[in-house]
This record gives sequence, C-alpha cells and structure tokens, in this order.
Amino acid sequence: VAQEASNSSTSFNLTARQELRLECSNGKPVSIRLEEGTAEVFGTELNRGRAVSVTGQKVAVFTWVGCRVSVQGEPTVMYVADETPMASYLNVHQTLDQRREEAKRAGPGSAGNNGPVVVVVGPTDSGKSTLCRLLGNWAVRSGWQPTFVDLDVGQGTITVPGCLSAVPLEQPVDIEEGFSADLPLVFFFGHSSPGENPALFKSLADKLAALLQRRAAADPRVAASGLIINTFGWVDGLGYELQKHIIQTFQCDVVLVVEQDRLYATLQQDLKVTCPRTTILKLAKSGGAVKREGDERRGAREQRIREYFYGTARTPLQPATQTIRATDIAVYRIGTGPRAPSTTLPVGSASLADPLRLQNLPPSLEQLQCVLAVSHAATPDQILNANIAGFVLVKDVDTARGAVTITAPAPGPLPGRYLVMGSIRSSME
Ligand code: ATP
Repeated sequence: VAQEASNSSTSFNLTARQELRLECSNGKPVSIRLEEGTAEVFGTELNRGRAVSVTGQKVAVFTWVGCRVSVQGEPTVMYVADETPMASYLNVHQTLDQRREEAKRAGPGSAGNNGPVVVVVGPTDSGKSTLCRLLGNWAVRSGWQPTFVDLDVGQGTITVPGCLSAVPLEQPVDIEEGFSADLPLVFFFGHSSPGENPALFKSLADKLAALLQRRAAADPRVAASGLIINTFGWVDGLGYELQKHIIQTFQCDVVLVVEQDRLYATLQQDLKVTCPRTTILKLAKSGGAVKREGDERRGAREQRIREYFYGTARTPLQPATQTIRATDIAVYRIGTGPRAPSTTLPVGSASLADPLRLQNLPPSLEQLQCVLAVSHAATPDQILNANIAGFVLVKDVDTARGAVTITAPAPGPLPGRYLVMGSIRSSME
C-alpha cells in the first residue's frame, strides 16, 4: 500500500483484496472518496469521484481488484489490512446464489421454490451484522430481493433496540444512512437482552417467522431470494437454547457460525437430530470487527433511538411533542416486570408469573423517558400477536391531571391507542 498525505486529505493505493479500516467517531465526519478502480463498503459499491461521509461508524473500504481512495477528516483509527475473510464470505454468497437460482427454476407453487434461509450466529462483536450486510448487498447486486431479519434486540440495525424486525432489501445498504427502514415489519420485545423474557422472545420470533413465510408464499421472487437473519451474541446456556429456537422456527437451512469452534461443534451435534437438512458452516471473524465495551453498546442503543426520532444529518426528521389525555391511550406491559422467584409467591399466584401476561399500567412516573411501542392491535387481546406501527418517547406524566406528554417522529394523532412498555429508555431531551 502506498500512502500520501496532502493538506487534510490522505490518499491510499490499495492492491487487490486489501481493505482500509476506519473508525470514525460521532460528530466528526470523515469523507471517503474513490478516485480510481473499484471498492465497496460492506458490499455496497463506492461511486468513483463521489465522496461519502461517515460518522459514528467503523467501516472498511475493500477492493477486489485494487483502487485509490482518499480520506478527509480525522478518523480515530485508520490502517490498511491485507488479511480479510472476504474471499470465504463471497464463496458463501455464491453458494447461496445458486440455491436462489434453483428455487427460481423450481417455480411458484413447487416444493423447492424457497431460497436459502440463512442465519448468522456467533459471539458479540464477531462481525455478524456486517456479514449479514455483505451477504444482503451481494444478493441485491445479483438481482435478488432478500429479506433481512434482525433478531439482535441489543444492537439491532433496523429500528430502535428491543425489536425483532424485518425489511426487504431492494437496494444496497446506504453507506451513510445504514438500512433504509421505510416500512419495516417490527415486533416489540421491549428489552435489550432476550433473557429478560425468553418466552416472549420465542413467541415473537414465531410470529415474525410465520408472517415472513406467508409473504414468501405470496411472492415467488421474495421466496426465491430467501432470508438473511442476524442474531444476538449470547451463545451460552439459555442464549444457545434461543438460538436453536430461531433456527427451528425460521426453518433455517444454512447456519453460519462466526468465530467460535465450540458453538460450531455443539450446533452440529444438536441439529443433526432436529434439523438434519441444515448446513452448518464455520467462518473466520474479520480482524476488523472490534470489541465494543458496555458504554459503547449503550451509546449505540441511545444513538439508534435518537435516529428514530430525529433522523440523520442527511435526512432529518421533525419530531413533535404533544400532550394527550391519559384516557386516550392504554399502556400495557407484557410479563411480570422484574421477576420474583416462584418460591416467594403466595400459593395460587402462579398465573401472575405468566411471561405472556398482559398488564394494563396506569399513568405513572415510572413511564418517564420510556420508549413505548404503538401497537397495530385493535383490541388489547391482539397486543401479543400484533406488530408495531412506530414508537413514542414519554416526556412527562401528570398523574393529577391525567395527561401524558409524548414525543413522536412526526406530528399528528398516534396510529393506535395501545402502547407497549418494556425496559427500553432514552435520556433524550
Ligand atoms: P453484536 O453481537 O454486538 O451485534 P456483531 O457480531 O454483529 O456484534 P458487527 O456489528 O458486525 O458485530 O461488528 C462489530 C463492529 O466492528 C462494528 O462497528 C462494525 O462496523 C465493525 N467492523 C466489522 N468488520 C469490520 C472491518 N472489516 N473493518 C472495520 N470495521 C469492521
């Protein structure tokens, strides 16, 4: 690699299969411009001569054939890497593409018309989301329209944290803005760890899987394109059980295990019996996938909530705050809230511990700064089965006057009166 600096801009000559890794902090935009050759950022091609501005992200500019790229701004880290797992990732993509072709050839209505359902599993920060993004982008560039499913309730990429969601990928992911989430299909779990209510997590995963299977049945192109599923990084104990549930309920036929030999071996053993037709592949972690500590993970969650309400620098939103009568809405919690050990419960109160119990909450200060999901449910008994129209943030609760002040991403009446509360909060002003 040859590197040249002029004024505030640095120019890199990358040879084939090298990547330039950049860590760009929040509020300090870094401009990246492809000058010659071809290059991509996590599978999205850079346009020659057109700069993209990156902030609050760690990215890699990868080239298959060689390129010259210039960087302006002050990334906190910037270096060129020779070794990447990109060739093995592309190999997986090619295999998946063959499966899509076969599904298309099988034609609508036939048994084999479903494309690959791929799930990516592995420990936290092993690069799962990035691998999903690469596979999604490459599939789009080959003319498919895969559905990206994000089950990572802690660090999801489609909408606010605490959700199980899906979007059809119609174009490569925007390098600056991330996944375009015009009309995502969202179920609200309400917590940043699936362990907070595993039964609810499973139930919502089942709902989402069934809905996507119906969508695929109605559209041969969607069916042949398949699913790409991202998961959370909790792969031991209960986390592992939930991963297996995901594999079963989405009927995954390809499991990509990033980094961990142990997880790979255990899955091979366990799925042999329950899902004998599932292919399990082990893939190396990219050296560029960097560990994020608790603070950074919390910060990323807060940032996603902020973006939901305020948009991004390129496409800002105008959030609106309004005060409504508490009787115009009904706030529900699913489950028992903080769990009590069953031995401390009085005899006969077992139903109170039902993880899917719906509890109507009166207006209270406990709701301050909570992110509430606006359910599509028309009646309370539909809440457990309904997906989500959007979110509001509770700014004030006046219990004496029976009024609640909420912020929504746009002015106007709420799209539903049933709101679901979990444990997702934001300190946003
Ligand atoms: P989690 O389990 O927390 O969701 P993950 O396994 O999905 O994590 P990613 O989010 O894909 O991991 O990657 C972790 C971080 O490393 C991200 O900030 C991502 O942008 C960055 N990253 C991944 N691959 C590269 C690379 N090749 N070069 C630079 N940064 C990278």
